Amino acid sequence: MAISPMHHRVLIVGGGSAGISVAARLRRAGVDDVAMIEPAQTHYYQPLWTLVGGGCAPAAESARPESSVMPKGIAWIKDSAEQVDADSQVVTTASGVRVGYDYLVMCPGIQLDWGKVAGMADALATPAVSSNYTYDLAPKTWERIRSLRRGTAVFTMPAGPIKCAGAPQKITYLAADYWRQQDVLGDIRVVLVLPTPAMFGVKVFSDELERVVAHYGIEVHKNSELVEVDADGRQAVIADNSADTKDAIGYDFMHVVPPQSAPDWVKATDLADPASPAGYVEIDKHTLQHTRYPNVYALGDAGSSPNSKTGAAIRKQATVVATNLQATMGDTTPTARYDGYASCPLTTAQDKMLLAEFDYSMQPAPSIPFIDTTKERKDMWYLKRYGLPALYWNLMLTGRA
Ligand SMILES: Cc1cc2nc3c(=O)[nH]c(=O)nc-3n(C[C@H](O)[C@H](O)[C@H](O)COP(=O)(O)OP(=O)(O)OC[C@H]3O[C@@H](n4cnc5c(N)ncnc54)[C@H](O)[C@@H]3O)c2cc1C
Repeated sequence: MAISPMHHRVLIVGGGSAGISVAARLRRAGVDDVAMIEPAQTHYYQPLWTLVGGGCAPAAESARPESSVMPKGIAWIKDSAEQVDADSQVVTTASGVRVGYDYLVMCPGIQLDWGKVAGMADALATPAVSSNYTYDLAPKTWERIRSLRRGTAVFTMPAGPIKCAGAPQKITYLAADYWRQQDVLGDIRVVLVLPTPAMFGVKVFSDELERVVAHYGIEVHKNSELVEVDADGRQAVIADNSADTKDAIGYDFMHVVPPQSAPDWVKATDLADPASPAGYVEIDKHTLQHTRYPNVYALGDAGSSPNSKTGAAIRKQATVVATNLQATMGDTTPTARYDGYASCPLTTAQDKMLLAEFDYSMQPAPSIPFIDTTKERKDMWYLKRYGLPALYWNLMLTGRA
């Protein structure tokens, strides 16, 4: 194998939640010569964007300089990865630099496919439509929720895996609770559009969420998705996939969540799962090692493991990847296993939350003893607002959680 001009023993692509967590763990374990390709100057704690949209936190609190979270001793390549040649073990960046590696960790996150729903991208430029899925738009969500006094508010979730599948519902409940407090909920038709047949994939949480939507009087359209937006006419076209029908709903405010898939450049690499059009990096769901290239691992939103795509999942995955990668580097079999754990802190009111924790078995997997987190609770709200961000910045990103 020809040595590329630049070469590192371990190369990490993406310095988001997953990349920084793994890098910190590898450095703590004494692994040398670790480089990271990451173009962004700012690191975001995206789970806060739900609270920003709900008027419960300032956006700026979710952002810190990337340099402040980059672990010491990591060679930061400030560029975007654009191609991977897994046979030659080289990643090429947008500016044409070729970076060779012995071991590769892929975690460049997920792509927001705004263009997949006709009219959605254009609608975001109008005052009535917003999304918590970007840092810039989350404050607009709150502006619109705060100013709405009557009319129809539509909240949508797309089909297919997305990051934080609970986020489309969380903002619905935060908005409904705010309108209840303002005594205008009775004048607002709140419509929640879900692609799934149930409120949640785990029955105990689904039952609790049925109770929450009944409490607010939210009209839920299951097995349904947004397929077109007429921004000028403020009409949302909703397809009911079980009845095979389409209906237009006029809206005064709409919160949209885009369909999502692996970044296009990842789909085009040898690392992508050839059987899946979503193109995620094809890994074993337990060891997180690539199924065809043993010197490659992936985790986070870009990996093909069928867990719920959340930061909580990454907290567990990072340990498994760091442990198994070191085993591979030492020519031993990777034995650490990820069990699919994910958690979703579902904000059900401006001061209440239920913590849905589950794994590949789709059974509850509680991690907090003596507390029933399957029901909405006030103490859990403080965990979401203050506890989890502190855990993220201080422990997870430093390789200690
Ligand atoms: C509104 C919202 C609410 C959420 N709520 C929760 C929650 O309550 N709980 C929870 O656990 N999770 C939640 N999540 C999900 C969580 O934020 C993600 O699952 C997590 O950030 C994924 O981490 P990642 O490292 O895979 O991707 P990211 O954190 O998105 O990081 C990807 C990184 O890769 C970089 N990158 C992109 N392209 C390239 C390239 N070509 N080359 C190199 N680097 C590149 C990016 O700049 C970025 O730094 C939420 C997400 C959103 C949007």
